[in-house]
Amino acid sequence: MFTALTENNKRISIDEAIPGESYLCPVCSSPVVVKAASSVNIRTHFAHKKNTPCLDNWKHDMSDWHFDWQSKFPLHNREVIVEKDGIIHRADILINGTVIEFQHSPISSGEFEDRNSFYKNCGHQVVWLFDATDKMKVDDCFELVWKRRTTLFSNIRTPIDGLFIQNYLPEKKNLLCIAAPDPKEVRCHTTVLPIMPENFLKEFGAIQDDDILSIQAIFEETKKSVLERERELRKAAESQRIAVSNAVFNHLSGIRNRHPRRF
Ligand SMILES: [Zn+2]
Repeated sequence: MFTALTENNKRISIDEAIPGESYLCPVCSSPVVVKAASSVNIRTHFAHKKNTPCLDNWKHDMSDWHFDWQSKFPLHNREVIVEKDGIIHRADILINGTVIEFQHSPISSGEFEDRNSFYKNCGHQVVWLFDATDKMKVDDCFELVWKRRTTLFSNIRTPIDGLFIQNYLPEKKNLLCIAAPDPKEVRCHTTVLPIMPENFLKEFGAIQDDDILSIQAIFEETKKSVLERERELRKAAESQRIAVSNAVFNHLSGIRNRHPRRF
């Protein structure tokens, strides 16, 4: 985990924690320690002391990518406890009634369904963002292929409120919004503007900047642009129809003038 409690019950992010100090797990109140503080391969995180299992038994991704995304949200929205019927888990983000799960490491279709249905049953919207670096390719037919789709989407029973994948091409940071989860294909919404991380943050209320569009606003812009294009095409077709009928009329008039009727 990247968020713990101090002895005064205040939330603290891992980047402010001091190795050697003791902190508490927000879920089970057991002591947690700062782990991997000097590791180059594993990101520093809070971990329970040996042999103290947590009430939250789900595996949580501890990657840099995961931490970077979580850190874009206010501290009080990160690793929030969600509880129902005595079962307790911590959502990566809970903001304005929406749970956002960031997933960098592989997850089975069963785990995916369990988490999605748990948060939905707790009355939240659930949005997923997957890191797709190195896990996407463009096949021979220039179709986007996401290697995880066949395993991930094979067991879905609960509707998903939002599914995004990030960074499928080198140097790109934009997010793709999956239209319908399907084990056979990855069908993404096409938008008139790319969905950038800041649009995602605006959508869920992590930033309020008026100059940044929400994802909803990008979809509305896209709809407007499609309607405008359809209007232009209709106008062009109408102009062409008039031009053809004028040409036919002029041609026939020409014939009539060259061959005046005789009485
Ligand atoms: Zn715990």
